[in-house]
Amino acid sequence: MAERIFTLDDLTSVRSVCGCLTCKLSAVFADHLTDLRTGYPGTVTPLGHRGAAPGTTAVPHFLTVRVGDAHVDIVVWEEMRPDQLRAWLPAAEARARLPQLAARIPLLVRIRQALRAGTFTPSGPTGATLASGGRYPSFRFLVEHWPQIKKEFTP
Ligand SMILES: [Zn+2]
Repeated sequence: MAERIFTLDDLTSVRSVCGCLTCKLSAVFADHLTDLRTGYPGTVTPLGHRGAAPGTTAVPHFLTVRVGDAHVDIVVWEEMRPDQLRAWLPAAEARARLPQLAARIPLLVRIRQALRAGTFTPSGPTGATLASGGRYPSFRFLVEHWPQIKKEFTP
C-alpha cells in the first residue's frame, strides 16, 4: 500500500480534544489507522501530550504532510497495550528494538528524507519491497528492517 500523503486541509473536519497541530494530526492519523487496520484489538489511542500509561508503550508514527511543494515529516504518538503492540508488530525481535528506535526519531527522519530523495536505497529484499511500493518507510517498516538499514545508512 502506498503511503498516504496528508495535507493541512485534512485538519478541517477532524475532531480533536486539543486544537494544536500535533493533536489534530494525531486525530487524523488515528482515523486513518482505524480504517486501515484489521484484527487490531481495541481502538487506536493517540497519546496527545501525556506520557504513556504504566504497562503501555508509546509508539511513534511518521506522517508526510504536503505543504505547498514540500513534503514535511511529522511524528505523532500512539499508546498501545501489550496485546495491541503484539498485534501491530508480531515479531518479538522487532518489538525488542522499538524503545531504542523510538528514542532516535531525528535519525529516522533523516533516513526517510534520504529514501524520499533517492540518496539512500537499501539493498536486497528491503530495498525491493520499498521499490515495489508494497511498503513505505513507516516507523514499523524501519523497526522491522532496522538491522539492514542501520548497516547500510550513513548519517
Ligand atoms: Zn495538543
